[in-house]
Amino acid sequence: MKLKNGAEYMESLRKLNPIIYYKGERIKDVTRHPATAPHVRSAAMTYALASDEEHKDLATTASHLTGRTISRFTHVHQNVEDLIKKIKMLRVLGQKTGTCFQRCVGLDGINAVYSVAYEVDEKYGTDYLERFKKWLIRIQDENLMVVGAMTDPKGDRSKGPADQPDPDQYVHVVERRDDGVVIRGAKLHMTGGVNSHEILIMPTTAMDERAKDYAIVCAVPVDAPGITMIFGRQASDDRRDKRERLDSGKPSFGAVGGEAVIAFEDVFIPNERIFLDGETDFTGVLVYRFAAHHRANYGACKTGLMDVLTGAVSYLTQVQGTARGSHVKDKVTEMIHLCETLYCSSIACSAEGWPTPSGAYMVDTMLANVCKQNVTRFHFEVARLAIDLAGGFLATLPSEYDLESEDVGHLVKKYFSGVSGIPTEHRMKVARLIEAMTGGTALIESMHGAGSPQAQRIMILREGDLAKKIKLAKALMGIPQKEPAGK
Ligand code: SF4
Ligand code: FE
Repeated sequence: MKLKNGAEYMESLRKLNPIIYYKGERIKDVTRHPATAPHVRSAAMTYALASDEEHKDLATTASHLTGRTISRFTHVHQNVEDLIKKIKMLRVLGQKTGTCFQRCVGLDGINAVYSVAYEVDEKYGTDYLERFKKWLIRIQDENLMVVGAMTDPKGDRSKGPADQPDPDQYVHVVERRDDGVVIRGAKLHMTGGVNSHEILIMPTTAMDERAKDYAIVCAVPVDAPGITMIFGRQASDDRRDKRERLDSGKPSFGAVGGEAVIAFEDVFIPNERIFLDGETDFTGVLVYRFAAHHRANYGACKTGLMDVLTGAVSYLTQVQGTARGSHVKDKVTEMIHLCETLYCSSIACSAEGWPTPSGAYMVDTMLANVCKQNVTRFHFEVARLAIDLAGGFLATLPSEYDLESEDVGHLVKKYFSGVSGIPTEHRMKVARLIEAMTGGTALIESMHGAGSPQAQRIMILREGDLAKKIKLAKALMGIPQKEPAGK
């Protein structure tokens, strides 16, 4: 692995030259800009974990392509153990950062593309997998961060890619040359986009024959000509300037992953970086494999966040002198129960993993959908309980400027204190952490990341095999399986 730790990762980003805008201005260095640096630091933890003795076994593995040691974030899962170790790794990283560390999107893209490229080659005699392997070996050896780019803007949602009044609402091929293709369009909500090295572009939905030019999978460096990124705003992002160490809640890390629009304005992709081009019949399976992997992950990274939130609110109850209340203990118990229940589904869909024809392992898709659906409920319920236990001062707390003020600082210290011996500043810090982890952008990601809840419900019903369940019920009741129609 060329990049061995967080510092080397950050240094490698400084050598790139992507075009990134934020609040109308160009960001020169994502590792130092206050809006992006917290997200860079959380992604850097994925690098740091690989050199941490305690977690090396989770964070690294041997490449099935080269046998060399690689980051698990660049690995193609070879068995159930790989899937489970990934889940454990994500929970640890959620605990260490309290936020999204972004790198799983590329990992899921790598796994989805690998298995599908194999099947496309089998059917059409193409050489996508060989091209992909060459690209992937470089990613593994250099330990690069890849942003998995799937979600298109979609324009008029009642129309598919080929029927959009504006054809650029889905990324598509606009020109074909002997040595490659030119693409145009955009990808939205690109977690970790501004601090990745490479973009792995995939279609966003199942497509039909008419959408051939939209069925494109390819990789491109983040600073390739024609690529522009616009970094998104997050709640309280102005609190992350140098002075506001306390009010940002998590001064080192971001509220969520740090998402960007990535626009592709006639970007050239050489043939060796194209991994699917026009095989529309494989777009559905590709999207679904990617989504299922990512839905499995959510039950791990968000569990890590819920661990932190449970710890934060428990500490606050100690500071406030309420920790011994039976209702407080009961609510904390409920938080832990929900957290571990969520983790169960993440482990379960991995334990039920299965090999695709390529050898790459997939999670159980039904259980992965259940896992992500649980996130959209349990994380919110845990946040609700945290806010309940913390109290209303979370919303009315003066700023750190007032705490430090010569005129009113003494009043803030006096009237926001808790049990004796614990500084007011600590109560304020933990309140801000809880605020950052339960409000604004943080929970939106739990709802819509890895697909909005309805996307999972559609798949849960589709894979739920209702016909079999009806058969089971009929068998118990002694009702014939075949009944005359209408009776
Ligand atoms: Fe990874 Fe979770 Fe962030 Fe997705 S939301 S990229 S699974 S940390
Ligand atoms: Fe996410």
